[in-house]
Amino acid sequence: MDMKEISSWGAGVAVGDGRHTKFWLHRWVGGKVLQEHAMTPIPDDQLHRLVCEFWDPGRGWRWAEFEPLLPPDIVQQIASYELTTDDVGDRAVWVADKSGKFTIKSAVSLLRAQPTDEGTLWNWVWKVRVPERVKFFLWLTFHGRLLTNAERYRRKLATSPLCAACSNEVEDLVHIFRECPKAKEVWRGLQARGLRYTAGSASLQEWIYINSLGDHEDPKWQTKFLLTVWYLWKWRCSFCFTESADVPRDKCGLLTKRFQEVIQAQCPDIHSQNSENGGKQEIWVRWKVPEGGWYVLNTDGAAKGNPGRAGAGGVLRGERGEWILGFAENLGVCSSVKAEVRAIL
Ligand SMILES: [Zn+2]
Repeated sequence: MDMKEISSWGAGVAVGDGRHTKFWLHRWVGGKVLQEHAMTPIPDDQLHRLVCEFWDPGRGWRWAEFEPLLPPDIVQQIASYELTTDDVGDRAVWVADKSGKFTIKSAVSLLRAQPTDEGTLWNWVWKVRVPERVKFFLWLTFHGRLLTNAERYRRKLATSPLCAACSNEVEDLVHIFRECPKAKEVWRGLQARGLRYTAGSASLQEWIYINSLGDHEDPKWQTKFLLTVWYLWKWRCSFCFTESADVPRDKCGLLTKRFQEVIQAQCPDIHSQNSENGGKQEIWVRWKVPEGGWYVLNTDGAAKGNPGRAGAGGVLRGERGEWILGFAENLGVCSSVKAEVRAIL
């Protein structure tokens, strides 16, 4: 495996000052290169621009230059990066092994060399009983990385800081999840008796924490509460960016259905009695936190058709269940077995 192959295949590049990483062509955010996420083709003269050219030291990202070209979830992910101005160069991740081969050991030793200061306060996020993508969303929430209209206005990306749904108040996260009439309607509709409604007094973090980890009558409350928060954000994004086509009429009906699906996934014995889908049984697997000092790499690969278009991905996590890194890979056309194997390699 040569260097070129590794960088096209591993987790990508850890950006430092962004002076050696190409914004559109190198994989430095998420699993794919940004060119693949772009909603319109990137002109040739733009394609080789460096990450640092999209960053103003002291001011932050030059949002206007890429926000219109990328889907909102990718823009959110870029928002979670900050370039360093001191002399920290960019480096390829997962190339720690001297032989140049990717090994889990090399990835872990590389990671251990980096202090993981952020996230220690909110480690409980990785232990809550919700799907992975909801955990990641919560992580972004707690790190102030979600671009509300208040935030977009501050960055001169929006002409108004107001909530698009009610046009009444500044749209910050507290508004989206708690204060907006649209949110209140959902909480009311769910007859959310477990909701600790500490309006006005608690910060957003406190409010989410109290509602996730408090002693609630309903043992499934944590899952229901966090899924609802996530959907409020999803619907808000659909409403703002896709002309509300994806926002269901019966929000509470959809949520109730999703609650059931997710809770069933957490209790495999209930689910295994259900033998619909032509006798095919789905097996739900719960992720286990590794023992002290260990890291766990979960991988998966899949192909649409056999052979067919395939992809692979994985997540590396530490002993507290914290997310360390993730990757995803487009494998082109290959067999499903090969996709699974590539995910592990
Ligand atoms: Zn509102």
